[in-house]
Amino acid sequence: MKKKIAIIGSGIAGLTLANFLFKDKNYEFMVYEKNESLPLDEGYGIQLSINSIRILNKINFSKIKSENLYHPKAIDFYDIQNKKICDLDLTQFNGNKHEYTTLQRSTLIEFLKDDIYTQHLRFGKKIKEVSELKGKVLIKFDDNTNDLVDYVIGADGIFSNTRTFFEKKTNKPVFKNALAIRTILNSKSGLDIDQSKISLMMGKNCHLVIYPINKKKELNFVCILRHKKTVPDNIKTLLEKVVIQNPNLEKVFEENLKSWPLFATSKMLPSSNSKVFYIGDAFNGFLPTLAQGAGQSIESAYELFKLIKDERGNIQNIYFQERSKRAKIVRRRSNFNFFTFHLSSKFMQIIRNFFMKFLLKRKSFVNSYLGTVYKN
Ligand SMILES: Cc1cc2nc3c(=O)[nH]c(=O)nc-3n(C[C@H](O)[C@H](O)[C@H](O)COP(=O)(O)OP(=O)(O)OC[C@H]3O[C@@H](n4cnc5c(N)ncnc54)[C@H](O)[C@@H]3O)c2cc1C
Repeated sequence: MKKKIAIIGSGIAGLTLANFLFKDKNYEFMVYEKNESLPLDEGYGIQLSINSIRILNKINFSKIKSENLYHPKAIDFYDIQNKKICDLDLTQFNGNKHEYTTLQRSTLIEFLKDDIYTQHLRFGKKIKEVSELKGKVLIKFDDNTNDLVDYVIGADGIFSNTRTFFEKKTNKPVFKNALAIRTILNSKSGLDIDQSKISLMMGKNCHLVIYPINKKKELNFVCILRHKKTVPDNIKTLLEKVVIQNPNLEKVFEENLKSWPLFATSKMLPSSNSKVFYIGDAFNGFLPTLAQGAGQSIESAYELFKLIKDERGNIQNIYFQERSKRAKIVRRRSNFNFFTFHLSSKFMQIIRNFFMKFLLKRKSFVNSYLGTVYKN
């Protein structure tokens, strides 16, 4: 009999796993999403390095129209006054069919939903109760439907509600005293940047990232800014701290801006139930300063799919060991970037810039710092 799997949450992690199960045809599965629809009108950008592209290619990522994708060839690093410090060649990591890619998040979700939307996705579903029955897990939803499954996959994001049903220990995400302020730009708004590349500008307690998200010259703009409150009283007033460092940025900040509080999980905790797994941000939520959240969601989904398929003994233990090893590498680098991108002392910034120039030219450093993440 086919194994039955319930995936809770239809973000990038849950949908990626669903696509592998769909392609394999040896499983019955359903994705249960609490919202009533997918966020397909969301225009913000996402960067996918080749570790995730390699996996997505196995489920036909190349079918996305090329005009909806971009392949930036480098990252240009600037100080906040728009003076270039150095650059990083991204093509050194690319393979034959795997290129560093940027796109709108909605383009990725649209692609991931394609094959599974009608038969394998149910909206408005929230778990009410779980219990064990005949060696399986019985999930009851708050609309009084239920499902009896062999595996439950928590893919419901950093504030995972699935965990509260199966785990005694909480894994509460920590607010990192920072906000991400985002918009889509239709022009460089007066900045002296090469808009075919990723531009990263580092200032006092903030950094900005600008990159193309398609071939229509639309640019994703995100400003990560230290701030003690999860919701700013006024975004414009808050951004004065950045504009004072470079008045040219005022034009950029005239666009339609939205803010997100940045949370991360400090601990990685194994599942205490051999039939329950966590993937994506539900396993571990990272700071966005290595642009690996979605990439790790994709990786974790694929790792778990392979383990379930291979039917190796003690899947739970192997999954946790391998996933946490990998996630720790990414977490260390994301945290380190967060620290170095935001230095407030002028002196420390000069030292940082000197080391960046020096180290980004060294193949051995680039390979050990980024290659280990991108080439998994
Ligand atoms: C500013 C910013 C920029 C970023 N940029 C990048 C980037 O460039 N590259 C990158 O790789 N990553 C980036 N990330 C991170 C990335 O977006 C996330 O890590 C990734 O989307 C996590 O995917 P997920 O599927 O695990 O969780 P989510 O995307 O959070 O999806 C969880 C899903 O579960 C649903 N859900 C929640 N609770 C329940 C419930 N109780 N029952 C049922 N369903 C539920 C939610 O509605 C949602 O659909 C960025 C993050 C931020 C904040």
